[in-house]
Amino acid sequence: MSLDLYVDGPRWRAHLRSTTAAYPGVVPVAKGNGYGFGLVSLARRAEWLGCAAVAVGTYREVSAVLQRFSGDIVVLEPWRPFTADVPYDERVIHTLGRAEDVAALAATAPSSRVILEGLTSMRRHGFSAPDLAAARRAARGLRVEGHALHLPLGRSYAAEVETWLAAAPFPRWYLSHVSKDELDVLRLAHPELELRPRVGTELWLGDRGCLSVTSTVLDSHQVARGERVGYRQRPRTRDGVVLVMAGGTAHGIGLAAPTPATSARRRAAALARGGLDAAGRSLSPYVVAGRQRWFVEPPHMQVSLIFVPADVEAPAVGAAVEVRVRFTTTQFDAVHLS
Ligand SMILES: *Cc1c(COP(=O)(O)O)cnc(C)c1O
Repeated sequence: MSLDLYVDGPRWRAHLRSTTAAYPGVVPVAKGNGYGFGLVSLARRAEWLGCAAVAVGTYREVSAVLQRFSGDIVVLEPWRPFTADVPYDERVIHTLGRAEDVAALAATAPSSRVILEGLTSMRRHGFSAPDLAAARRAARGLRVEGHALHLPLGRSYAAEVETWLAAAPFPRWYLSHVSKDELDVLRLAHPELELRPRVGTELWLGDRGCLSVTSTVLDSHQVARGERVGYRQRPRTRDGVVLVMAGGTAHGIGLAAPTPATSARRRAAALARGGLDAAGRSLSPYVVAGRQRWFVEPPHMQVSLIFVPADVEAPAVGAAVEVRVRFTTTQFDAVHLS
């Protein structure tokens, strides 16, 4: 039984190449579940692309990349004195965002390579602009590789970037969530600066057309209206077929991330994609005859029960069914790269 990701290899590689070309100096981000592909696969891909550096999310992710990628590894998680198992490797570049951490890292691992991060409108990690300039002066004993900014999504923050460039000058900047167009404008205005965009989603998942996800039909049962099914033994309200599909909570099936939708209309749309309807039913990501089908009950650990009404032809046991998933929250059983 299996929840599979199929990748049209030639098309994916062409997209990786063109995106890399569109973002000179790009630092591919390989973190978490590796955007569905896995960290190991992304590390190999970054090596193949010839990138000078890769960014990982946490220190725990460094080892998967270290063995497969020969360039630098930027750790996005800020270094803290209490972080366990930090690899103090010549190829690892640490991120610092607090004055006390600058002093502590200089004492713990002198001449470590570091990036100093600014606290943008995101308000996640980093120094204020005056503190960033001061941190650079205080970072004696460390090798400062660049300054970094991580910006919010949704609109242009180019003006904010400009403010930082002026307030804490440095020749190399690592930028997150700055669009290609904004980068072009910044490069024109500052030809002396090296701007290194950190890109994940747009690189790995930017061409959805070359990615498809399928699940196998593992079992199929005719059910009549009133029959009880599943752990919860809720009676069916219609005749139809219950399909047992590969993919459960362990794969991230049925996980809904909190919706960022602000309007009632967008919330309703989010609900229709994966939420509960008024009767407490939940729409599954499994697509049969062109439509996502209802879960019979919450997904099990490795399988999900879905309902196909009697007037729709149900796929046979062994058939592959399209699944609409979020790649960053899905654990695939296998990734098939052509
Ligand atoms: C995850 C992350 C990125 C990459 O984000 P995408 O939206 O996947 O491109 C870049 N910078 C930082 C600091 C991140 O945490």
